[in-house]
This record gives sequence, C-alpha cells and structure tokens, in this order.
Amino acid sequence: MRGAILHAPGDVRFEERDDPTIVEPTDAIIRMSATCVCGSDLWDYRGINKVREAAPTGHEYCGIVEEVGSDVRTIKPGQFVIGSFFASDGTCPHCRAGYQTACANRVPMAVLGAQAEALRVPLADGTLVATPEVPDEAMLPHLLAASDVLGTGWFAAVAAGVLPGSTVAVVGDGAVGLLGVLAAKELGAERVIAMSRHEPRQKLATEFGATHIVTERGDDGVARIEDLTDGIGADAVLECVGTDEAMAQAIKSVRPGGGVGFVGVPHGVNLDARQMFYSIVRLQGGPAPVRRFLPELIDLIWTGRIEPGKVFDLELPLSEVAEGYAAMDERRAIKAFLRP
Ligand SMILES: [Zn+2]
Repeated sequence: MRGAILHAPGDVRFEERDDPTIVEPTDAIIRMSATCVCGSDLWDYRGINKVREAAPTGHEYCGIVEEVGSDVRTIKPGQFVIGSFFASDGTCPHCRAGYQTACANRVPMAVLGAQAEALRVPLADGTLVATPEVPDEAMLPHLLAASDVLGTGWFAAVAAGVLPGSTVAVVGDGAVGLLGVLAAKELGAERVIAMSRHEPRQKLATEFGATHIVTERGDDGVARIEDLTDGIGADAVLECVGTDEAMAQAIKSVRPGGGVGFVGVPHGVNLDARQMFYSIVRLQGGPAPVRRFLPELIDLIWTGRIEPGKVFDLELPLSEVAEGYAAMDERRAIKAFLRP
C-alpha cells in the first residue's frame, strides 16, 4: 500500500509502505475511507518538534474493517469505524473514568501512520466505534472530523465547564477552535465569542453558533471580552492554540471561578502559579479523550444535527498529501481532507 512519510521538515512524500498486518490478536486492519492533515501535524512539518528520522504520519482515520485478530469481539469485518488518535483498551481504570488518552495500554496512532491506504488499529474493541451502517460519501467529512478535531473541541468545552446559559470565549480559529464553538453551542451556551481575524473562519464560526466575533488579540482581546461581559469575564474559555500568548489571553478572559479548557499542545507556555492562585480559575487540559465522546458525536452527525466536516475547505487525493500540508502551513486551507 501507499502512505505519507515525513522525511524532514517541509518534506512529506507519498510512498510505498508495507501493508499493515495483524500483529496482536486485539488488532484490526481498516481500509481507509478518508483521512486528513491535523494542525498538530504541522509542529513536525515546521520543524518545531524535532524530526529525527523518516516516519509515517497522520492520526485521523475512518474506514471499513477488513480483518480482525482472534481476540477481537465486537468489531467485525465490513463495519465502518472511527477511532481516535490514541488506541485505548476501554477497560483500564483511566478508560473507565473517561480518560482514554491516559489508557494504561495506549498506543499513539501517529506512529502507525493514518495518512495511508490502510491502517492497523491496536485494541480494536476499545478504540473503534462502528456507525449504524456504512455511510454515504457526503457524510465522510463529518464522521472523519469526529476522529480528532470535533472530539478535541468538544473536550475543550467540557473541560472549560460550558453549561446551558454560559458565556463562552474561544481562543483560536483553527479547525479545533471552530468546532469548539460548535461544541459550546451544542452544550447550551447562550453567548459564544469567537476570537478570529480571518474572515472565512469568522463566517464558519458564525455558522457553527458564534454570537460575537472578536478580532483583537492579546490584552486588547481580553479587554474586548471584558467589554462584552460587563467587566465580569467569560464563564468558560476554550484555548485551542497552545502558545503562551493564547494561554495568557484565555486565563485573563475568564471570570473568577470560571474554567479554561486547553487543548492546543503547549509550546513555550509558562504559567505563573501565583497569578493562577489569585485568578481563582479552574484549568483542565490535555490530549482530548475523544473516544469518550465518539458514540454521542457519531449520533449527532448521523441524525444530521451537526455538520463538523465544514471545517474541511480543501479536498485532495491522498497521493497529494504533501500539498495538504503545504496549504495548511501557509494558511491557504483550514483543514485538508484526503481521499485514498
Ligand atoms: Zn485503558
């Protein structure tokens, strides 16, 4: 089969790779229906994370089960399935508590390389969720979004403590931030303030349920949130970037007693514990346990209630995966959808 290999910063190639095979009896092999490029793939692509050797890449996937190992009980060949960016057993204490990204037996899917024609999925029964039937083509982008960006935006909203009636601010207008807006709306937020300077993204944020757009950043952005909330601050803030500036903006925008959900992988973020102490703000972040939300998210998509796949504004054949990276790196695209 063929798949993407990241050779060095800025150098992704579509190449021949070994066909995946069942290694553990709990594995499944899926034939990819759709995959995509993630904002977090860009940390490697831009050389911000060190790239030591050529390696497969990609961690978002959905497809048809081709084969399962002898210990797989619930997942069956022929099913259409979606999984998250960590494989998880579904049975350890962390999984049962809903924190599958901390699973005692977790396997990062990026190592297996989901930007490919087929994929080995470890711990198939714990990791994969099957849809009621094989979906039609039009539903693929929405279901694929559930694999990471929708689930991650959803976790940001849950972690920030969004409740019916909340006033929510979302820092970051990438795919995760935009879907954080959608999640906040679905969780009942009354006002959703999207912080974005890019017009097409503002438009999508509004489509997803944003009631206000703030274009200012940093302290000016914080001041605008204050203005909009009578000086109180937002009840919940979703930090979907991962930079020091974005984190500071998030913490300063939330009211005392409010919460920040942070899902942008922190790069160069420094928190002042003393400042945190006096802010009386709750923080929860981390790699989103997307698997916890998948059944609910799939149901919302299946019934047509949400259309998270609108974040894909570029569709390419998988063979042009390199262009998908370049377009996202240069911010010509929000998110690239790849069809094998
Ligand atoms: Zn587990």
